[in-house]
Order: sequence, then structure tokens, then C-alpha cells
Amino acid sequence: MNDAPNKPTPPEGVPDQLVSDLNQLTAEEFRKTIIHAQELLNFQNEEPFPIEPKPGDDILKVTERDGYTEVVKQIFCGEDCGDCPHGPYLYHVEQEPHPDGTETSYWRFIGEVQLDDE
Ligand SMILES: [Zn+2]
Repeated sequence: MNDAPNKPTPPEGVPDQLVSDLNQLTAEEFRKTIIHAQELLNFQNEEPFPIEPKPGDDILKVTERDGYTEVVKQIFCGEDCGDCPHGPYLYHVEQEPHPDGTETSYWRFIGEVQLDDE
């Protein structure tokens, strides 16, 4: 590696191949790469799956809103985890109708929430 003194060090976990590819990019290509990375990130956050709880999920609260459903759930990630359950997390769930009459639920992760004890 050519180590320029002020060259930023990539965070741990970035694949070496990706780091070396990134180092080849022009500023314009960087901007496009960032946009694409953001799109991919959004895409992952919007991973469609049905509103029924997945095994291990614990739905605490469902609130119908205008245009979307607010869902608060805790997630049990599996065995050997001392931190379970995770959350509660807030999601906005939108139904996207398709021309063939089916619907896809998009879960948009909003963030961790505190639930009042009721
Ligand atoms: Zn866990």
C-alpha cells in the first residue's frame, strides 16, 4: 500500500478488494458510488416481508396511520445472545399494490423506541 500521510484509513470490516477499488475512483465516480451505496442501504432497509411476525419476533404495538402502519416490535435474534430481546424498534409498514392484485409490505426501519408501561 502507498501510505500518503493524510490518507484516511478505511473502517474495519470493509473488504480489501473494495478498498483498493475505491482508491481508483475519480471524484465523480465517488459521488455516484456513494449514491449507489445509499440506494443499496435503503433497499436493504426496505426488504419486503409480510406483516405477520417472523418466528422469534414479538410485535408489541400496531397503529394504523394515514398511508402506513406503525409497528413496534422486539426481535429475538436467536440462541446464545445475552442481549435478547432487541429493541423495541419502530417500523413504518407500507403496502404497495401491484397491477396483478397482490400487495407487498415494505418495512421501513425507523429506530429504537421506548414504550411507556401501560
Ligand atoms: Zn439477541
